[in-house]
Amino acid sequence: MLKQLSETIYYLPNQNDRERPTLGLVCGNQYSLIIDCGNSTQHAKEFLLEIEKLNVPPVKYVVITHAHWDHFLGMNEFDATVIVNSQTNKIIKEWQDYSYDDSSLEKYVNTNQMSSMCKEIIKTDIPNRDDFKLNSPDVIFENRLTLDLGNKVCIIETIKSTHTNDSTIIYIPDEKVIFLGDSPYGTTTNSLYHFKQSLLLPMINDIQKYDAEMFLLGHESICDVDEMNIYWKELTTASRAVKSPCLESATKCFKLENKRDPNDDELFFLKAFVNDQIIQSK
Ligand SMILES: [Zn+2]
Repeated sequence: MLKQLSETIYYLPNQNDRERPTLGLVCGNQYSLIIDCGNSTQHAKEFLLEIEKLNVPPVKYVVITHAHWDHFLGMNEFDATVIVNSQTNKIIKEWQDYSYDDSSLEKYVNTNQMSSMCKEIIKTDIPNRDDFKLNSPDVIFENRLTLDLGNKVCIIETIKSTHTNDSTIIYIPDEKVIFLGDSPYGTTTNSLYHFKQSLLLPMINDIQKYDAEMFLLGHESICDVDEMNIYWKELTTASRAVKSPCLESATKCFKLENKRDPNDDELFFLKAFVNDQIIQSK
């Protein structure tokens, strides 16, 4: 079910059990803009059906927040201008060369080009896969792009991120709403979940430049300022305590600096920063 955030902004909440991220809809007087395409044909179709029920201006633009499959595989369903940054475009290009029949999917999973979860979702939620080819994005931008949907300005900008090197955010200034995609999350490298420690503060700095009151995240739906501030505080406190690839000394350092034990979230972040140190030291 589509949820209404303000008079002109809607979102389809994430569904974690089906690897479906949050999808967004911003409506101006003349046009509408969509944020992320869904993880499959089926996901995109369900989103479009929900949009049809609303009386909103036609969807003219689609912005993809980053090149993870669950955010762009539904792309072909949208009769709109698809906008990505140049880094995202490079990765999507690889997926345009893929074939989506059973044996090809199996091959990509074996060569780690695709997760087995991705394969399963493609099998159940992309029909007619044998001749499926992913479309090309239409507009490739560097750094920043401003769109006016008709008395509704959207700022589309790349930011530094602990999740990927190709993160785009969408900021709607007059609503003080920002779509962050997955940018504030960690990432998995060689089966290790980690937060890129060197990018944490630059990312927070990038995000805090926007005067936002509501934050939409790829796999959380929505957070207010207080929730985001707690998230940043826990992340930065954990990061400060991690100076080597050793969880024991990080935990010790955390307790010394904060005069208390880390809570569950902080412990999770400590491990993720330690994993980052392990990855960086290799
Ligand atoms: Zn992602």
